[in-house]
Amino acid sequence: LKVKVEDTYSRAADGGTGFAKCGGNYGGAFYPTQLAREAGYDQVIWTDSKTHELIEESGTMNLMFVINGTLVTPPLSGTILDGITRDSLLAIAKDKGLKMEVRPVNVNELKQALEAGQKVEAFGAGTAAVIAPIETIAIDGKEYTCYIAEDAMMYQLQKELYDIRHGNAVDNHHWNYII
Ligand SMILES: *Cc1c(COP(=O)(O)O)cnc(C)c1O
Repeated sequence: LKVKVEDTYSRAADGGTGFAKCGGNYGGAFYPTQLAREAGYDQVIWTDSKTHELIEESGTMNLMFVINGTLVTPPLSGTILDGITRDSLLAIAKDKGLKMEVRPVNVNELKQALEAGQKVEAFGAGTAAVIAPIETIAIDGKEYTCYIAEDAMMYQLQKELYDIRHGNAVDNHHWNYII
């Protein structure tokens, strides 16, 4: 995906319904997403509605990064949906002993890491695609390239979740039900 960090519009605000899969959340996303499409992007990275400095989600997916080998994702809040895919990938990362941090991610931090040429993976997490690799992120009008090569951590996480779903890996958490 090619995405841009949204610095004007927001998907959800404190005191609203952004944490839930609620139809009303999606109406406000159409116009900014359309503007992003017209500018050549697939979707936007949502930031907090007050400062636009903290990264929240991308499109209708939770957003995760791998920065210098550590899986990083923002903590749940009233404006971030509590996605099952995010939760599952965090559980898998923990099982595998991967380094992970659930903490606020500042747009500037991301920009600095990309500008310094650090290896940054960025991907959306949601039921539909499991993971959606992000190749390009525009911040303040400048485009940066993320790491999407085959040995990226995101594919390892995706494969493990796929294997658990298909009965090809041990289902430690009892996520599957035989019906
Ligand atoms: C559906 C959705 C997600 C992902 O949730 P899953 O439970 O993993 O499918 C994340 N953010 C938003 C805004 C969503 O609508």
